[in-house]
Amino acid sequence: MAGKSLKLYGLQHLDILRRYRDIPDRALHDMRVVGQVLPFRVNNYVLDELIDWAEPDEDPFYRLTMLDRHMLDSADFDALERAMRVGGSAPVEVTAAIHRRFNPHPGRQMTMNMPELGGSGVSGLQHKYAETCLVFPASGQTCAAYCSFCFRWPQFIGNRDLRMATDESQRFVAYIKVHKEISDVLLTGGDPLIMRASVLRRYLLPLLGADLAHVTTIRIGTKMLGFWPYRFTTDDDADDLIALLEEVVRSGRHLAIMLHISHPRELETAAARRAVQRLLSTGAVLRSQSPVVRGVNDDARIWQELWSREVRQGIVPYYMFVLRDTGPRAFFEVPLARALEIYRGGIRQVSGLARSARGPIMSTDMGKVAVDGVADVGGTRSFVLSYVQARVSDWVKRPFFARFDDSATWIDGLQPLSSSDRMFLARPEPVVARIHH
Ligand code: SF4
Repeated sequence: MAGKSLKLYGLQHLDILRRYRDIPDRALHDMRVVGQVLPFRVNNYVLDELIDWAEPDEDPFYRLTMLDRHMLDSADFDALERAMRVGGSAPVEVTAAIHRRFNPHPGRQMTMNMPELGGSGVSGLQHKYAETCLVFPASGQTCAAYCSFCFRWPQFIGNRDLRMATDESQRFVAYIKVHKEISDVLLTGGDPLIMRASVLRRYLLPLLGADLAHVTTIRIGTKMLGFWPYRFTTDDDADDLIALLEEVVRSGRHLAIMLHISHPRELETAAARRAVQRLLSTGAVLRSQSPVVRGVNDDARIWQELWSREVRQGIVPYYMFVLRDTGPRAFFEVPLARALEIYRGGIRQVSGLARSARGPIMSTDMGKVAVDGVADVGGTRSFVLSYVQARVSDWVKRPFFARFDDSATWIDGLQPLSSSDRMFLARPEPVVARIHH
């Protein structure tokens, strides 16, 4: 079948938007300014098939991918604009200061989860929970379009100090080999499925060897279904990719494709529907996860439709996340109390099969914290919280409490209800996973 070719558009191609809408010069200028610090990329599928140009300002995908001056505070915006007047683009000292304020590594992932092998760090690897290891393939640290809220934005801005990626020697394989407690390996990014099938093979095949028999599950995190579904159908190496996924399944490993799906419309296009069928034909299990994002999907009806549609198309609803504490968070964030309302509003209207979705979940330094509800505890209105996944495994599913606060948007804005709740909310000292061989 003849396919569409992926065309990527960055900041230098902003004028292309004029083909789709009447956009004032001022709006394009603002995007250029914000684009000095936040990555921008769209493609021909997002523009032609996903965004509804009848009402772009109300469109979730327009909001998801385009830049807006309110993503920056006005002092930062003005500083960038002034600097651009002089040199055309903002100098690195101006952009670096803003990047630092954007908290490039929430969860202190550069210091807390970076493992060591033989006395030196293994780049492109994170080992936070005993059984799960994250691999950031060097060639997969980009995406077919960028979500402007992305918590992985340091991967895209070309700053090597902020970026996580494997080195050429693939030491991550040696690390996993000696860590027999690792049962799950997650390839993540960016988007690992942006890699050619031949490159992805170099990451997947070593994991299938007899010396890594303890790795029983391979997960691949991707938004290709939403941003470029032709990756699985008509790209020139789509058949090779599908064959590779089949090979993983044939090896006896559980293969989970972790789909980032922000909105049900991502599943509605003909290209996306075909892509889901092809992925399912490999024997992989498709699971979905996404943060709740203001202006994109902060409505219970959207999640109800999303989860129901996922089940109909063969995808298992998995996580609704709270936006992480990084990047232009103030622009997109949804308070925890509101996120809980949205989750409850959606989940109570779907069938039992769609209630596999857990949420709202904060992925924090200490683990994944679920906001389970709001209750009166000893006369004080409180959030009921629990760890779904924790560095301290004994904390999992132990309820704890924080004072209700309808403006809190992250765990660091919560006050423990009593002294026994304090430890669950405290930040740990950085530790580095260590092994010497
Ligand atoms: S697809 Fe994922 S990694 Fe890529 S920009 Fe969006 S949130 Fe970030």
